Amino acid sequence: MTDKQAGGDVRLSGISKTYGSFTAVHPLDLTVPEGSFFALLGASGCGKTTTLRMIAGLEDPTTGTVRLGDKDVTALPPHKRPVNTVFQSYALFPHLNIYENVAFGLRRRGVKSVKKQVDDMLELVQLGDFAQRKPHQLSGGQQQRVAVARALINHPQVLLLDEPLGALDLKLRRQMQLELKRIQTEVGITFVHVTHDQEEAMTMADTVAVMNGGRVEQLGAPAELYENPRTTFVANFLGTSNLIEAEVVQSSGGEVVVTAGGGKLRLPAGRCPDATTAGGRLLVGVRPEKISLTPVADADAVPAGRNSVTGRILDSSFIGVSTQYVVESPAGKGLEVYAQNVEHRAGLEPGAEVVLHWNPEHTFGLDAAQAID
Ligand code: ATP
Repeated sequence: MTDKQAGGDVRLSGISKTYGSFTAVHPLDLTVPEGSFFALLGASGCGKTTTLRMIAGLEDPTTGTVRLGDKDVTALPPHKRPVNTVFQSYALFPHLNIYENVAFGLRRRGVKSVKKQVDDMLELVQLGDFAQRKPHQLSGGQQQRVAVARALINHPQVLLLDEPLGALDLKLRRQMQLELKRIQTEVGITFVHVTHDQEEAMTMADTVAVMNGGRVEQLGAPAELYENPRTTFVANFLGTSNLIEAEVVQSSGGEVVVTAGGGKLRLPAGRCPDATTAGGRLLVGVRPEKISLTPVADADAVPAGRNSVTGRILDSSFIGVSTQYVVESPAGKGLEVYAQNVEHRAGLEPGAEVVLHWNPEHTFGLDAAQAID
């Protein structure tokens, strides 16, 4: 198996890219820690590929610098940077077998004895038995693993991945997400992965930068972004957020109290904008799977201290892992609730009057001046 390789951090300072009068990436400061699996996540056209290409040296930044480890590489061409890129199109050499595809980078550098390194690399991507095959004799996922092996053989400090799983079907994509994560853990170098798929970014990355309109809207660990989004874009891009318009009645002692839909809700001050004060407005969010439903007739059974609003079930659908409800409430028209283990529960049919309740800790507050995306 390959030894752990020394990684490198990536530091972008004031980096931007404009094409004529169009700004694809606004000045951006970003540090990718050494040895991390970092994802640039965003919808098509948000500037994530352009950012990746500036790290690779495939695109000249309009302003700013790129540092890899302690070296400023802004002026270096791609092949002089200690990085390599894996693209969605595997771009394997069709006439060479898998062994020679992986050996290619070593041979080009004039390395004489390549066998041990190529064997190790094929073992790393679990394709040792496929060395003699041609690319067209492999599945899409296997070909992508060859592309990863080929990119890693020259020991880059940073591996850049530009939608590498985009051409694979969903099942294979899921397998490859875990596979790439395993490979990254094993080689220990920095991976920067571009994707528009939030689930993919959340599954694989230690840190995710959510991009929108050429800017990073929020950066953090997947769970932190999901549980404490700071903008409506991030809240909605990473799942369903149930945003409720609310007025702040109190903000003290680490807790914010709001009124929404005629009732009071509490939430941690640390999950609200800094400037939250009594009299202000907030959009209060809670994820669908954090909410429980109780028929109004059993409202006494709702534990004390929960946030609660009343509502009426409009629709319910059983989708196997959960039952998904849409609930109309004075707090919001189409609140979504995902409940597990409730295949057929009496009192939770469409038309039923219910209490929606959840732990205040699972509530976040956003600046109400933002548009709801
Ligand atoms: P996708 O997932 O579709 O690849 P992306 O987030 O990676 O999207 P980029 O490829 O970085 O987006 O492009 C960002 C913006 O810059 C887009 O609006 C794109 O049209 C524009 N753009 C990219 N390259 C050029 C170019 N060479 N000339 C002009 N505009 C460009």
